[in-house]
Amino acid sequence: MNSELDDRSYTFSNKISRVILLSMEEVLGKNGLNAVLHTARLPHYIDSYPPADFEPGMTFEESGRLFEAMEGMFGQRAGRRLARQSGHICFRFGIEGFGAVIGFMDFMLRILPITLRARIGLEVLAEILNRYSDQRVTLKEDGATYFLEITRCGICWGRYASEPVCFLIIGIVEEILYWVSRGRRFDVGEVACIAKNDPMCIVQVQKVPIS
Ligand SMILES: [Zn+2]
Repeated sequence: MNSELDDRSYTFSNKISRVILLSMEEVLGKNGLNAVLHTARLPHYIDSYPPADFEPGMTFEESGRLFEAMEGMFGQRAGRRLARQSGHICFRFGIEGFGAVIGFMDFMLRILPITLRARIGLEVLAEILNRYSDQRVTLKEDGATYFLEITRCGICWGRYASEPVCFLIIGIVEEILYWVSRGRRFDVGEVACIAKNDPMCIVQVQKVPIS
């Protein structure tokens, strides 16, 4: 379970908070996102997204409430689909902010085999989250599978569920893999989640693409 004993709030940087909100706005429409922000008791973000800098931004308590409100309003099935779509778009908005890294990657990626490209994409995602948010992410692997192990997760923070709920992360991972592989699709799923009392959230990726 996410510890409640920590004496400061964990946060996403302003930049990442902004990318999350812009992506949700694109998927839900402005009125839709405003309604979710209202329900999540986050009215201070309505028409006032954080700036694109790396100061501490949205707290994990807030982001947990944000995704919980989206599921509550649209229903579990649609809410999770919308979170996943937001994740796809996060990558697009994110690229604008991390352009230098991504540009270099784009050059390097052309010459590498596909499973290595997938690993580099996941490593860069882990690095960005570790550096620019209080998410704690480690990449592990076995013969056929990559595992993103998230020991501190702002997406499901404070939530309780019987199934994994970190669909925004799944969406981001899917889109990164699509991009690094130039259009291939991978089997991505969350196999453990702190919201259902697992010790960490684990996003699992099969190394061989499905299409
Ligand atoms: Zn999580």
